[in-house]
Amino acid sequence: MSGRIRHCTADLTYTLSTTCPECGKPTVIAHPARFSVEDRYGKYRRMVKND
Ligand SMILES: [Zn+2]
Repeated sequence: MSGRIRHCTADLTYTLSTTCPECGKPTVIAHPARFSVEDRYGKYRRMVKND
């Protein structure tokens, strides 16, 4: 994988572009944050590991 996944904060469209293909707004780098499904699973994994 190359490049960073970005997403539109307006409609949460994921893209590699700096602008949203859906609404044309600037996108931001998709940091591991509250919106990230992967992060949610990571949290559960950590919980299991700590148990
Ligand atoms: Zn958008």
